Order: sequence, then structure tokens, then C-alpha cells
Amino acid sequence: MKNNHVTTLEIDLTAVKFNLNHFKSLLKKDTKILVVIKAFGYGSDAIEIAKSIQDNVSYFAVAYTDEGIALRKAGIKTPIMVFHPQEKNLELIIEYCLEPCLYSKRILSQFLLFTSTLEHSEYPVHLKFNTGLNRLGFKESDLDFITSYLSDNKSVKVTSIFSHLAASEDKNEKEFSKSQIHLFEKIAAKFVVHFGFKPMMHLCNTSGIINYPEAHYDMVRLGIGIYGFGNEDYETSKLKNVLSLTSVISQIHTIEKGESIGYNRGFIATKTIRTATIPIGHADGISRRLSNGKGYVTINTEKSLIIGNVCMDMIMVDVTDIECEEGDKVLIFNSQKNIETLAKNSDTISYELLTAISQRIKRTIIS
Ligand SMILES: *Cc1c(COP(=O)(O)O)cnc(C)c1O
Repeated sequence: MKNNHVTTLEIDLTAVKFNLNHFKSLLKKDTKILVVIKAFGYGSDAIEIAKSIQDNVSYFAVAYTDEGIALRKAGIKTPIMVFHPQEKNLELIIEYCLEPCLYSKRILSQFLLFTSTLEHSEYPVHLKFNTGLNRLGFKESDLDFITSYLSDNKSVKVTSIFSHLAASEDKNEKEFSKSQIHLFEKIAAKFVVHFGFKPMMHLCNTSGIINYPEAHYDMVRLGIGIYGFGNEDYETSKLKNVLSLTSVISQIHTIEKGESIGYNRGFIATKTIRTATIPIGHADGISRRLSNGKGYVTINTEKSLIIGNVCMDMIMVDVTDIECEEGDKVLIFNSQKNIETLAKNSDTISYELLTAISQRIKRTIIS
């Protein structure tokens, strides 16, 4: 069924391509680029993003198997890495030609069981090493059993080894990031000694690309950067905004002194005011933390504060001093600064604000 919501997330594919080229310009000629389009492409539309840049990237990556399957079903042929496959998805990984990131003895031996039984030859896999994030990954000391499991097993091929930085955006954690880089290089060197060949190496996410050019290696993993965020103002200023969220005024109310607005009577008018009701709520990603003036929208170029508590499907905003009528366009965000302010006012980061934009909001593409 066609999505007929009036609240719309516009995705600017020209800006996506601009941002991709910006990051490419930071890389050496031979460094490959992987674009991370997990979580519906950071809340946008993974399939549209993938289609628009598939000819200009070496890899895509998603977090989970079903996200990779959705891309394959949409006809995406680019290699797709799955960062976090689960034991029960491994058959599907093979069925849809996805490339698993193997991070533990359990998942490695399970995957080998499938590839050996199905008589695969050199099925591409990626080994994830933990160098300090302490989330997923083999330890340096696991290299011995990895070698014993893999050295005579021709059903898979280690296409890459990688790790992930814990604080690549944080200048105060440079020493820690450098210790991760050092450990990763040590692991890679040992791998080469154990296996007698060098797989691709990759470590950097968006902020890593910007802050650690010495660690770009064979490939980098670009995520939030493609949507226009460099994780600091100066870097963000070089990028174009991709996502704009708009809606329309459903209804306008005049509220008399003493009347309340919304659930829990979250706001009591101290004078006569005018409010507009907008069809977007906390189920759509407008955090309840943005209630009572913490969040805002823009109506006819004027800033209009959220008034009362954010409801599940709606917000009410103060339009006492704004010339507007029912049906007028409402801008929720259309710049990186705008998105970052809303994220900050809801005690979070752009990553969470974007990925929280619900699937019921209509997506439109500009290219
Ligand atoms: C999400 C993710 C990325 C992308 O990170 P950004 O900060 O969005 O660039 C890269 N690598 C891994 C392993 C990830 O999980």
C-alpha cells in the first residue's frame, strides 16, 4: 500500500553522492570504501541509498542478516558484509550471498560446518578482532585456534580482518585510539605469519577516516558521514545535509488562560495562546524529552516551540506569534545543525535521532 502520511522524510541523493566524494577525496587512490547502511540506512532508506551509490563503492555493510537480504531482494549486487550474524541466520547468509563477519569461536565453527557440508570453496568471510571496544570480536590470543580451524579448511577464505575504534571522534582519547591501532597492526602482522597471506585490513569509521589517516589501510567503513555528519562542527560544515523532515498543521486551537494542553495537562496557559497540532509524535522518533519547549519546529520561517508533552502520534506547538493556518507546511529539520540541536536537547546524538525516525513516516527521494 502506498504510504499516504503527510509527514515526510526527504532524502537528497545528490547530497549523499557529494558526501561520498568528499570522503573519497580523503583517501589514498587504492583505499577502498565500504558504506554502512545498517538500520534502514541510518533511518533513511537503505535501498535507495544503495542504488544511488552502488557503482561507486566496493562494499556495503549492514548489522543483521535480514537487512542484507532486503538489499539483495531489491537487486543490489555489490558485496555485502553482515557485521553481526547470528548462529540461526548462517544458512540465509549463504543463500543470499552475504559475507559474514565472524567474531567468536562459536560462530566461526558453526559457519565452517555449513560451508564444509555444502562443499563451498573459498566462501568470503571477515574476521573481527576486539582491540578495546569490548563489544564483539576475537582476542589476539585467539589467533592460535583460528589458525588451527582455518589453515586446512578451503571452504572459506578470510577476505578481510578488521577492528572497530571505541572513541575515534574524541580528541581526548587519541592515546587510546592509537593503542587500538597498534594492537590491530600487531594482530594483522601475526595473522600474516600464521597464514602466509595478507587479507584486506580495515579499521576506520567516519571519524576514524577524518582523524586517523595513517589507519585507512585497504578499506574504510563510512556510516554517518554519508548523511552529512563529521562528528564535529568544522568537519560537518564541509558536508551537505541529506535528510529533511516536514509535516503540515492539522489543526489550530485558541487556548484561554487557565486551560491545559495535552496529556498529564503538561502545560497550563497563563494567557490566551494559539497552538498548532502536528502529525508526528514519539512513536515517530520525536523523543518525549523534547516536551515543553525543549524541541521546536519551524513554521513560515518562525521558530515554534513544542508545548506540553509529546504524544505518541502528535505534538502541539506554540504559534501565538506566528502567522499560519491549518494545512501550512511545518519544518521539523532540514540541516545538520537543526538535527544536532534536536539530538542534544533530547540528550542524545544524531545517530539515535536519525535511526529513531519511524518506518511509518513517508520517504521521498530527491536526486
Ligand atoms: C556502524 C559501524 C560503522 C559506521 O560508523 P559511523 O560512525 O557511522 O561511520 C563502522 N563499522 C562498524 C563495525 C559499525 O558497526
